[in-house]
Amino acid sequence: AEKLLEVKNLKKYFKVKNGLLHAVDDVNFFINKGETLGVVGESGCGKSTTGRVVLRLLEATDGEILFEGKNIRKFNRGQLRNLRKEMQIIFQDPFASLNPRMTVSEIIAEPLKIHKLVKNKQELDQRVSELMETVGLAERLYNSYPHELDGGRRQRIGIARALAVNPKFIVCDEPVSALDVSIQAQILNLMQDLQEEFGLTYMFITHDLSVVKHISDNIMVMYLGQVVELTSSKELFKNPLHPYTQALLSAIPVPSLNRKRERIILKGEITSPINPEPGCRFAKRCNYATERCFKENPVLRDVGNGHFVACHLVE
Ligand code: SF4
Ligand code: MG
Repeated sequence: AEKLLEVKNLKKYFKVKNGLLHAVDDVNFFINKGETLGVVGESGCGKSTTGRVVLRLLEATDGEILFEGKNIRKFNRGQLRNLRKEMQIIFQDPFASLNPRMTVSEIIAEPLKIHKLVKNKQELDQRVSELMETVGLAERLYNSYPHELDGGRRQRIGIARALAVNPKFIVCDEPVSALDVSIQAQILNLMQDLQEEFGLTYMFITHDLSVVKHISDNIMVMYLGQVVELTSSKELFKNPLHPYTQALLSAIPVPSLNRKRERIILKGEITSPINPEPGCRFAKRCNYATERCFKENPVLRDVGNGHFVACHLVE
């Protein structure tokens, strides 16, 4: 497989009143062309910041972001403008990111105009209709406003907008989290169909592991700015090794058993991401923590077959 994106030692720190917030703290991963990487963790774990830094919507503090082998952190303004067509983002709440005074067709037309992807009005109208059809928006909605539509249709507009520039890579930031479960499945199915049709590569960010189970090739679990586990979706669900992943998984119902696994409730204080202390960031909440865990931060290591874990317990 060919890597589309590779991230090396990525850091994003924010200066705050009482120190440095380590939002993304030495993160490494790659995504193969045409595949999906699920990025999972609680709010504040750095998953959205990672997505924004990768797209250069936020500047990294340190590290490399290789897109098709080129370090895009070194790109100049002209190169960045072209990169905007290759990489897109879909947001959780499309309503917040859609201009309420623009119609569906105007919203979808905007990126086509900005990037000068059509020659004239006729071509523009044709391309907008085509995009609406691609994402399953009925023709009659052409002149509707976003507030007249339900959440699922609004997300379809967001997807059409992202697709308009023919991107290779899309960061999907909690795209179904605000939707009803039945609508979630429709949007996830649509996204998988589009991935196949257009050869798209996704970085799919969510707080809900069950959402990315079927859509992801690989899943990366983040905790307080760091990757604690990274492996194939299948392996993660079958054989979770990090105590934090195990806790996340324990909250998901197991259909075959018709009940939940024994739920692991996380107690204990969440370590501050501001000037974090040495040691494992999960130690204060971990049932297995030993003295060593409070002194030494475990590094992410391959424990076999491309299963990466950062935990002293797994050696
Ligand atoms: Fe728990 Fe220690 Fe592993 Fe951290 S390194 S997850 S504290 S056992
Ligand atoms: Mg796939």
